[in-house]
Amino acid sequence: MIEIISVANQKGGVGKTTTAVNLAASIAINEKKVLLIDADPQANTTSSLGFYKSDYEFNLYHVLIGSKSINEVILNTKIPTLDLVPSNIGLVGIEREFDELEDKELVLKKKLKELNTDYDYIIIDTPPTLGIITINALSASDSVIIPVQTEYFALEGLGQLLQTIKLLRRTKNPKLKIKGILPTMYTKSNNLSKQVLHDIIKHFRDNMFKTDDKFIVIPRNVRLAEAPSFGMPVISYDVKSSGAIAYELLAKTILENNK
Ligand code: ADP
Ligand code: MG
Repeated sequence: MIEIISVANQKGGVGKTTTAVNLAASIAINEKKVLLIDADPQANTTSSLGFYKSDYEFNLYHVLIGSKSINEVILNTKIPTLDLVPSNIGLVGIEREFDELEDKELVLKKKLKELNTDYDYIIIDTPPTLGIITINALSASDSVIIPVQTEYFALEGLGQLLQTIKLLRRTKNPKLKIKGILPTMYTKSNNLSKQVLHDIIKHFRDNMFKTDDKFIVIPRNVRLAEAPSFGMPVISYDVKSSGAIAYELLAKTILENNK
């Protein structure tokens, strides 16, 4: 059965794109068919996989306004089981295009029903706002992963995101679950990082990803920051890095729990 997961947090720079790209790649490497959707006009997910403006003509914007079918904009990545719906800065125009539209929250959900390929997972990267694009992603999803950076102010704004999720459950998407809160950029040797992780666990213990004996935490790892400039997920760039190992563990945990 297909599972649709959004990666969301309206704070910028918390590891949404890094999580979307590397989780999608790690699930795909485990022989699942994955579609990664770049729903951020900044198009960092698209460029992280090595695609530049000249490589593709159409993107999510054209799908949402109805001028292209979703099947027509899909790009094949270097990982055979991983496909991408690219983004482009033009996607910011959606806010205006959707202004007067009825049921504007459910456009993406309708478009996903038109997919010709049987995907096991769809992972959606979202922009750092709670605007109509993020609302479309959350309305189309079974669940949401919330990356939280283990830094000062980490929990700020989280209340607003959780309220939005609750509201969507009452309105557009009753089945929306929190897949997990994912602490990111964790530095063991840094006391602040440790303190923040402690606080995250204190508040969200029941919503965190865990293995049998520990919570899943993404370490700060320079390989994760370098990989996008080579147009690769970290497992293709440096499979032995701590970042690759952490996202592999997250992917395996998600796959195990879905068995
Ligand atoms: P968002 O999509 O939430 O804005 P990004 O995933 O783009 O966040 O991450 C912000 C910056 O931090 C990027 O430069 C990214 O490469 C870097 N980064 C993200 N996660 C890690 C990590 N675990 N270790 C090191 N750098 C990271
Ligand atoms: Mg991003």
